[in-house]
Amino acid sequence: MNERYSRQQLFAPIGKDGQEKISKKHVLLIGAGALGTGNAEALVRAGIGKLTIIDRDYVEWSNLQRQQLYSEEDAKERLPKAIAAKQRLEQINSDVTVAAIVGDATAQELETIVKEQHPNLLIDATDNFETRMIINDVSNKYRIPWIYGACVGSYGISYAFVPGKTPCLHCLLETVPVGGLTCDTAGIISPAVQMVVAYQVAEALKILVEDWQSLRNKLVSFDLWKNQHAAIRVDQVKKDDCPSCGTHPTYPYLSYDMQTKTAVLCGRNSVQIRPAAKREYDLHELAQLFSKQGLQVETNPYLVSVSLGEHRLVVFQDGRALVHGTKDIQEAKTLYYRYLG
Ligand SMILES: [Zn+2]
Repeated sequence: MNERYSRQQLFAPIGKDGQEKISKKHVLLIGAGALGTGNAEALVRAGIGKLTIIDRDYVEWSNLQRQQLYSEEDAKERLPKAIAAKQRLEQINSDVTVAAIVGDATAQELETIVKEQHPNLLIDATDNFETRMIINDVSNKYRIPWIYGACVGSYGISYAFVPGKTPCLHCLLETVPVGGLTCDTAGIISPAVQMVVAYQVAEALKILVEDWQSLRNKLVSFDLWKNQHAAIRVDQVKKDDCPSCGTHPTYPYLSYDMQTKTAVLCGRNSVQIRPAAKREYDLHELAQLFSKQGLQVETNPYLVSVSLGEHRLVVFQDGRALVHGTKDIQEAKTLYYRYLG
């Protein structure tokens, strides 16, 4: 067990003291897709104290090309990503406490975790800007650094935001091409993922060992196919009147009524529907109900999946549902209410 971190401790900027610090830190990882699984594996192997993972999706075959913690078995079972990741991570390093949350990273959910558990760092591994703006507001309100990462095709981008020191994502939006703004369906290659993960984890380790002056302080972006690489200084972009990090912040993305209840999922031909009030479904009962209607049902302890011709409806315990086979919110809602009332 003592040998486990020997090479990391030999690395002078970390050393024994750094390893000790790493082992006491808690990281909140938002998203368990390509970037999420890469970050999670690296941090768990590095020996952090605790990792909390929040993700709303389940494993599919199209994930296996780049989402490194998942297996064919996970895809067959449609295991929620947070659960599948936790299982694999515990095999990799049983010293690390891994907490899995199957659900949406809403402002309410993230604020609750942060207020109750005081994570030392937030890592963005989401696929959408709405969630990143929520992470940005939570980071500034509770003074916790966060590391942005995004990739599409062979392109990637990353930056470490430190409240009170760097500008925030809100500051950057108007002036800097932060990328990842659109929900692209251009596909992705795994080295682009790995490169962003490398930038994110490097900054994460610096923050976890509290080596603040070694932080990159530049927005880095690259295209591995076009052989381009850029690092932009952004410190002068910080705005005093920024609603998220300025002198009188309002944290606009934390006001709950601003949150969308339905969302078209990135590049997925799927719509997510979240009921206004949380429900508690008995998934076993629900599966039986669908079966009685002659529908083809598959189930696991976390979700029920029903085949509806061109569409598929996947219902989670809290009433949240994914409607596959459409990008039309109205159509998805109609299906949802027809089958779930
Ligand atoms: Zn700002």
